[in-house]
Amino acid sequence: MARLILSLRSQGVTDSKVLNAIESTPRQMFTPELFQDRAWEDSALPIACGQTISQPYIVGLMTQALQIEPRSRVLEIGTGSGYQTAILSKLARLIYTVERYRTLMAEAQARFKALGLTNIITRFGDGGAGWPEQAPFDRIMVTAAAPGEPKALLAQLKPSGILVAPVGRGPVQTLRRYVGDGAGDFAVEVLGDVRFVPLLDGVAKEL
Ligand code: SAH
Repeated sequence: MARLILSLRSQGVTDSKVLNAIESTPRQMFTPELFQDRAWEDSALPIACGQTISQPYIVGLMTQALQIEPRSRVLEIGTGSGYQTAILSKLARLIYTVERYRTLMAEAQARFKALGLTNIITRFGDGGAGWPEQAPFDRIMVTAAAPGEPKALLAQLKPSGILVAPVGRGPVQTLRRYVGDGAGDFAVEVLGDVRFVPLLDGVAKEL
């Protein structure tokens, strides 16, 4: 684990609050039995439902890019294992997280409970539509690849908010950060190439 933290630091994840959150989140609890020995490797790993737990470096990069403040209310789309959610929960006041697989949502909820993370509000549903009842959010993180500009989610961001999302239709997408100018417009920055599973429409029919 110390080696992972050093590696993240050398790759540019230098925010000490973000590194502390990663260090204090037991990734093995979010990793399937079969990959326990690889839980602290800097790689994405398969989880149930054909999805993946994100690579720690990407988790660090995206979390740092979000510039979370202690009072932030954060929306996360794509709970998956709940690993990224748990890290966000250590940095922000409240996390709202949406997942389209019931099984993944139930497993993630059990982990949050076991870890005593009480500032996470979960929802089984299609996150592409955001969470209108709880909008606007200070920060939004999308952990599945949006095919194009995530307009519905940008509409649920505060005017000075920040949204980070992988955008693109292919196997490799660009990680984008949208920073609100306070007057209804967003500056867009490209943070690099990433590989995420796609953001799909609707909830999953299978468990
Ligand atoms: N942050 C997660 C990454 C999970 S992979 C982790 O570290 O474990 C992306 C997740 O997004 C998958 O679980 C997938 O089911 C979910 N997803 C894809 N499209 C979605 C949608 N429209 N609404 C909600 N979740 C979605």
